[in-house]
Amino acid sequence: MNGNHFDVIVIGVGSMGSSACYQLAKSGLKVLGLEQFNIPHEKGSHGGQSRIIRKAYFEHPDYVPLLERAYASWQELEEVTGEKVYHETGLLYIGLPDNPLITGVRQSASLYSIPVESLTVAELKKSYPVFSVPEEMDILFEQAAGLLLPEKIIPLYAALARQLGAEIHEGETLIDWQLEGDGVVVNTSKATYRADRLVLSAGAGMGRLLPVLNQHLTVTRQVMGWMTALDPAAFRKDAFPCWTLAEPDGHSIFYGFPALDDVDAGGPKGFKLAYHGHGEETSYDDTDRIPDAKDEQLLRDFINRYLPGTVAATSALKTCRYTNTPDEHFMLGHLPGYDGKVSVASCCSGHGFKFSSVVGEILRDLTLHGQTEMPVGFLGVERLI
Ligand SMILES: Cc1cc2nc3c(=O)[nH]c(=O)nc-3n(C[C@H](O)[C@H](O)[C@H](O)COP(=O)(O)OP(=O)(O)OC[C@H]3O[C@@H](n4cnc5c(N)ncnc54)[C@H](O)[C@@H]3O)c2cc1C
Repeated sequence: MNGNHFDVIVIGVGSMGSSACYQLAKSGLKVLGLEQFNIPHEKGSHGGQSRIIRKAYFEHPDYVPLLERAYASWQELEEVTGEKVYHETGLLYIGLPDNPLITGVRQSASLYSIPVESLTVAELKKSYPVFSVPEEMDILFEQAAGLLLPEKIIPLYAALARQLGAEIHEGETLIDWQLEGDGVVVNTSKATYRADRLVLSAGAGMGRLLPVLNQHLTVTRQVMGWMTALDPAAFRKDAFPCWTLAEPDGHSIFYGFPALDDVDAGGPKGFKLAYHGHGEETSYDDTDRIPDAKDEQLLRDFINRYLPGTVAATSALKTCRYTNTPDEHFMLGHLPGYDGKVSVASCCSGHGFKFSSVVGEILRDLTLHGQTEMPVGFLGVERLI
């Protein structure tokens, strides 16, 4: 065995890959993680300060067992590092009673006995006077939900992995890979490596690494904005929760966070909101990341409708990328046709970060044992090929 041979190589040390590097190194494997940019960076899918975590999963109840484990795994990360990465703020779900956001939350909450409270519009107004919501909307509140700090978490996982002996190279891009003998050979911008197993967790770069999947994946440009409030106290973390609101048009969802000015979160000041609809389609190589007046207008129009008279100024705008599968569910499992040697975790259609702790564990199990006890069959790659 030479220095360029590893038990496993992980491509992309972002949300999923950093967690995988940690879990694989903790299991005693010789790990190489390759990241084309710095750890973390703003050119992938993990930039922008915060990500929501919630359990009453409206997208599909099958995600709930994964979330149960993800919450426990986030707690373990906090215990191992002594760092706070999860802030429980509670989460409001707002929408018409028949909107899939509301029906989906009710279904998951009921199937898995997740505490979710119903509020009237008057109760919402009393607790959070900044909201202005039509009477006909349903309002649900999940207390055991909140936010994670991706730009803190990813370097923590990478640092833990390195402490456990993993080699992690920044500024090194995978060019191509193939099966060779009993393992894989990987060519990068700097060297050639060999390994027994390969993990592909390249986010928006997945289509380029897996041409067979490229036609099924859509990369979109998503906008986030930070607003300076006229009354900052009303948006502080101890006074204001995370929220998600489905508009009556049936396809626009916006979501937001309290201001994290007093939290070790990095990023802009003010409260953040973002659009969780189908953003403009872009490509992996597209470098158009600069937000424009149209992006700001989208967020300001939403504020005028539901948080009127609350904003003094836009403090920052950023863009980030979703990589969407046709059914908007993840791609997680062995890559078909590669004899269990290649695992894939990515394309999380704009809702994957909260799972990255448990996804690292799943990738460890797939690599070490060829299978996982976590119920991820519904996310298998074969459904897309
Ligand atoms: C605006 C926005 C808001 C979101 N909000 C939420 C939320 O509230 N809650 C939630 O759970 N999820 C949310 N998500 C989704 C979540 O952030 C993503 O699902 C998650 O970050 C995807 O992780 P990933 O590991 O697939 O991608 P990334 O974190 O982008 O990691 C992929 C890495 O692979 C690297 N890479 C790519 N190609 C190569 C190559 N050839 N060689 C080497 N390295 C390579 C990239 O540089 C990158 O670092 C949001 C996403 C966006 C964009």
